[in-house]
Amino acid sequence: MSLIFKSEKTMATQEDKLKDIIGHAKEYGFVFPSSEIYDGLSATYDYGQLGAELKNNIKNYWWKAMVHMNENIVGLDAAIFMHPETWKASGHVDAFNDPLIDNKDSKKRYRADVLIEDHIEKIRAKINKDVAKGLKRFGDDFNEEEFRATNPNVLRRAAEIKSIEDRMRDALEEEKLDDLKKLIEDLGIACPLSGSKNWTDVKQFNLMFSTELGSVSGESAKIYLRPETAQGIFVNYLNVQKSGRMKIPFGIAQIGKAFRNEIVARQFIFRMREFEQMEMQFFVRPGEEMKWYEYWKDYRIKWHKALGFDESAYRFHDHIKMAHYANAAADIEFNFPMGFKELEGIHSRTDFDLKKHEEHSGKKLRYFDPEINESYVPYVVETSIGLDRMFLAVLSQSYKMETLEDGSERSVMSIPPALAPYKVAVMPLTKKDNLPEKARAIIDDLKIDFNCQYDEKDSIGKRYRRQDAIGTPFAVTVDHQTLEDNTVTIRDRDTMKQERVAIADLHGIIHEKVNIRKLLVG
Ligand code: ATP
Repeated sequence: MSLIFKSEKTMATQEDKLKDIIGHAKEYGFVFPSSEIYDGLSATYDYGQLGAELKNNIKNYWWKAMVHMNENIVGLDAAIFMHPETWKASGHVDAFNDPLIDNKDSKKRYRADVLIEDHIEKIRAKINKDVAKGLKRFGDDFNEEEFRATNPNVLRRAAEIKSIEDRMRDALEEEKLDDLKKLIEDLGIACPLSGSKNWTDVKQFNLMFSTELGSVSGESAKIYLRPETAQGIFVNYLNVQKSGRMKIPFGIAQIGKAFRNEIVARQFIFRMREFEQMEMQFFVRPGEEMKWYEYWKDYRIKWHKALGFDESAYRFHDHIKMAHYANAAADIEFNFPMGFKELEGIHSRTDFDLKKHEEHSGKKLRYFDPEINESYVPYVVETSIGLDRMFLAVLSQSYKMETLEDGSERSVMSIPPALAPYKVAVMPLTKKDNLPEKARAIIDDLKIDFNCQYDEKDSIGKRYRRQDAIGTPFAVTVDHQTLEDNTVTIRDRDTMKQERVAIADLHGIIHEKVNIRKLLVG
């Protein structure tokens, strides 16, 4: 069977995979639809008992790798509300827009650029189909690279994609909304819901949520829920630099909520209106930003790959349309169940933000560099990752259905042990004969260092399956022999191998596997 057929098959099953993940996440307490008893609130989710643990462990991995492992990076926890002038300075009031278009027949609203990107994806799928046909025809002799570079059909379609992307980039960069509408019409794009091509004009829609401060209503009291955490860092950069005696280059890291009134909010926790970001702004000497941009691209991709997931699940994507503040920008894209999508952005933001804050606040935001005896507004390179998207990346790479040797199936989450919600489950073989008490005594000792679960319900086999399904790396069974010689059975989630070990050795065995050191230093 050809490679392409294989990947097409995976694509079909990948869509089902997202549904399976959503179902599994709900069944075991990772993610629930928000306010479910009121039929939920669109694009809003709550993290359940296991989701909260997994999220904390991801945050901890990020914080350790970014803050504790780098002596020139420190943390911050800024407020969600900021002075409204912040968002004028940052450009969000004027420029944080999505181009929207409505279908007059279905009354459905879409992002114009997303409609065009979906159209491009369809052309790409046709190219893949051509490649698949070639592969089927020529078998092992097929040279895919050469085929893509010479086949007239493939070349024609690739040129078509390029011309659409060029037109879209020009229209977006120069905010020519009429051109964007014309492109949609020229491509014959129809409303996915109704098939109608009866479109309104394209309009800009600001993505910031606003509310009123205190009891006064009116324009002057209008404040925003931050659409990114970065600005809390910019306005505090001198406070941190001075109070922490930081020398350039240095970074400030922050984890916190951000809010965007997304129009096309979909795909589970991938695109939400309330989400969490883990951002780090690195302040550098002007002119040195490209060096640091490359440095952080490399550092961040290593952080991802250390988790041990399939390396082909990651790729870099350079932006076609640069944000208003950036002079270089790349995404780390991840192969989510719905295909490759942005997981993290690495942006060289120049001195745009700090200069704008100087202008709007009237305060000097300069740094005196003792090494070169000069004062300047630093340049900034940022790394920005969505915690919820990272959570989805972990779930989608970890969740598997396995067929075992005896033909039975198990669902298992091979979550990297350092991130797993529970590190060990301790189970008495039966509910009597002092076995529960013994199991609890073991937990009392282990729980100081590891998140443990006690489980005495159902057969041991069923309990193992439950722990596999939530990704617990170890299950420890306490039986009658334990009372005699202080040994237990320890079972490994991934190999399902069981071993008899002394209770005194449990701590060392578990620590060896679940500690975060391996992720941080290899
Ligand atoms: P996209 O193009 O997918 O809308 P973006 O380029 O607007 O994303 P950034 O502004 O660079 O995103 O934000 C940094 C990170 O925050 C993204 O890489 C992503 O992981 C996360 N993020 C952004 N918007 C959302 C959202 N609506 N829901 C969840 N995570 C998000």
